[in-house]
Amino acid sequence: MSSVATPSSVSVPQGSPAAPRTVRVELGARAYDIAIGPGLLGEIGTRIAALRPGARVAIVTDQNVALQHLGMVEAALDAAGIGFSTVIVAPGEGSKSYAGLQQVAEGLIAARVERRDLVLALGGGVVGDLAGFAAAVVRRGVDVVQAPTTLLSQVDSSVGGKTGINSPQGKNLVGAFHQPVLVVADTAALDTLPARELRAGYAEVAKYGLLGDEKLFGWLEGAWRGILSGDGDRVEAVAASCAAKAAIVARDETETGDRALLNLGHTFGHALEAGAGFSQRLLHGEAVSIGMCLAFAYSARLGLCSGQDAVRAQRHLEAVGLPTRIADVPGELPDTDGLMTLIAQDKKVSRGALTFILARGIGAAFVAKDVDAASVRAFLEEMRAA
Ligand code: NAD
Repeated sequence: MSSVATPSSVSVPQGSPAAPRTVRVELGARAYDIAIGPGLLGEIGTRIAALRPGARVAIVTDQNVALQHLGMVEAALDAAGIGFSTVIVAPGEGSKSYAGLQQVAEGLIAARVERRDLVLALGGGVVGDLAGFAAAVVRRGVDVVQAPTTLLSQVDSSVGGKTGINSPQGKNLVGAFHQPVLVVADTAALDTLPARELRAGYAEVAKYGLLGDEKLFGWLEGAWRGILSGDGDRVEAVAASCAAKAAIVARDETETGDRALLNLGHTFGHALEAGAGFSQRLLHGEAVSIGMCLAFAYSARLGLCSGQDAVRAQRHLEAVGLPTRIADVPGELPDTDGLMTLIAQDKKVSRGALTFILARGIGAAFVAKDVDAASVRAFLEEMRAA
């Protein structure tokens, strides 16, 4: 058992460092559990049989995840006597498209999925968003089980019910809220994830500390190495993140208020991600890392939080190996006006006023509406040069 103090939001049974945790997402009739622990894909059949006796399962996954983890999942379903079919899409954001949706929806229909059956999204956020959306629309709605296999998807995208695909006009513009009926996060599945993807997902873990839980952030400052290597408190970190997200989603399921806090770092980050062409030059979590540093630096500039808080946030993300400055993005980016245009196009802009998530300190983020665009522009101009 680790002697590191654990985050406030998670209770850790003494003497069982890798015991599975369960986080409940309290959404009334649509409430569901998130099971978190190493090796859970190997017992996913038992969980599904208990949840929906007699249901068949349509697995949706991508080629990379299929190579590493599909065999185990198929064996687990077989062992539980569950009939299944499988749709395998190409890896990467390109599958979150109309063509990807067509492939998955037609695959589900061809497999004769019925409304009482289950779709099992096995993969990262791309598979989760795509399979979740296909499940939302095929036969006017089939329930989905999310089995996230990236750190980002375990702590963020698999929880909360946002599903969708990209339009040629922008990311995530076509979608639906479709809450899963169960999330199974096998923390050992992260062992096969490329290190860069793991680090990028970690930015979202740090985000929960930065936005609402200083104690969690302090814990992460000591625990991050073990979380990334898998030797330490990975289960606790995923559980703490899911608990933080679950609490916010339960308060504001469809993002009319508090849920926007989850966008800390995303307004600046999204502009950089778009500026880099949503490519391997800058992964989503890397963009969020830079975006969070900018949000804290801008908050300090406005006198909302101390400069020390901004430096502390940046130091931690830097120590982890994440990019923290605009200059860390390789290659060309649009000029400051180009970035401002991308910020203005972001969906978090409401009726022309800039909405940002700013912070009064570590763990004290808030939604700031009517942020002055000229001041953001001047700040960005300076940060580009830094
Ligand atoms: P991803 O799904 O593209 O996965 C990253 C890469 O890792 C892919 O190549 C994938 O094949 C591979 N991979 C996945 N699991 C693996 C494993 N265990 N071992 C080896 N390789 C593995 O990327 P992501 O970062 O998980 O998700 C990004 C997507 O999530 C974006 O489309 C983003 O818009 C979406 N997202 C959605 C929400 C939401 O609330 N729905 C929130 C955040 C992000």
